[in-house]
Amino acid sequence: MLLRQLIITTIVLSAFITCGEKKSTQPSISTTSHPKTIYSFKFSEDSAYSHVVKQVLFGPRIPGTESHSQCADWIVSKLSRWADTAFVQEGTVRRFDGKELPIKNIIATFGNGSNRWLLVAHWDTRPWADQDTIRIDQPIAGADDGASGVAIILELARQWSQNPPPVPIDILLVDAEDQGPPSWEEVESKPEHWALGTQYWIKNPHRPLKSFKGGILLDMVGAHNPSFLMEGVSMQYAGWVLRDVWQVANKLGYSHLFIFLEGPPVTDDHYFLNLAGIPTIDIINLNPSTPHGFAPHWHTHRDSIPIISKHTLKAVGTTVGAWLNQASNVVP
Ligand SMILES: [Zn+2]
Repeated sequence: MLLRQLIITTIVLSAFITCGEKKSTQPSISTTSHPKTIYSFKFSEDSAYSHVVKQVLFGPRIPGTESHSQCADWIVSKLSRWADTAFVQEGTVRRFDGKELPIKNIIATFGNGSNRWLLVAHWDTRPWADQDTIRIDQPIAGADDGASGVAIILELARQWSQNPPPVPIDILLVDAEDQGPPSWEEVESKPEHWALGTQYWIKNPHRPLKSFKGGILLDMVGAHNPSFLMEGVSMQYAGWVLRDVWQVANKLGYSHLFIFLEGPPVTDDHYFLNLAGIPTIDIINLNPSTPHGFAPHWHTHRDSIPIISKHTLKAVGTTVGAWLNQASNVVP
């Protein structure tokens, strides 16, 4: 994924620096909408961590490679055991340079009926380390960018196999999110170059798009000391979801990670889901102090196992699980 407008970074950066701790600059939040609710969700950070390690050990998950195919088989075997249904949607998409990529979107379902929630992460990894200074033409391990979101969703599915979720949920693990042009490529970067698996799914959904009340995308949700700012596209299309999720995270004690501060808009899978009419938020690690707006390990070889924090995995997993427990009460 990439930032939609770099200029916004500058604005946010200055806001970040000058606002500091001042409460008055934060979006107003109601503290009364969930007055007596105690939020909780059983989530094993050890299990989620092991799911990150497992994916990374397959090697880079680049469409068309053996590692990619083996990892897909492993994810499907897990979801087949834990969800009501699990299957692969195979297709072909065209990369920015015209190359055809064979993709596998992995889908799993819990419960029946409409008013469903869509839980999304990309499971492919970047074929280049184009933000690094070494081995920039080599693929990254993608422990955070790819594996972390999938790992949290797999652990949620494992928990739901024991205690089914109170709302119907579809898991959509999309392929080919991160195959956009590398920084050295002389092509104009367009949103359409990214999130190819999601764009394919929107044209070929496994059930009508109107079945979904909303969605949550997890992208780069596993690193040490992340800052989950209120990402711009999420705020524009699904602010009612975003504010509520942030509120639950804060009540669970994760105010140091889920920060009530608006961040820049990002071209990511949720961008296309929102355009297609599914209000979807992106929980994503945004860092206003770097030139690109993401954490320093973004699209580098530092995005490997040591970057992963069990505390962060637990914070995100518990928040999403606890929030979905009461999602039927949430209204736009
Ligand atoms: Zn990425």
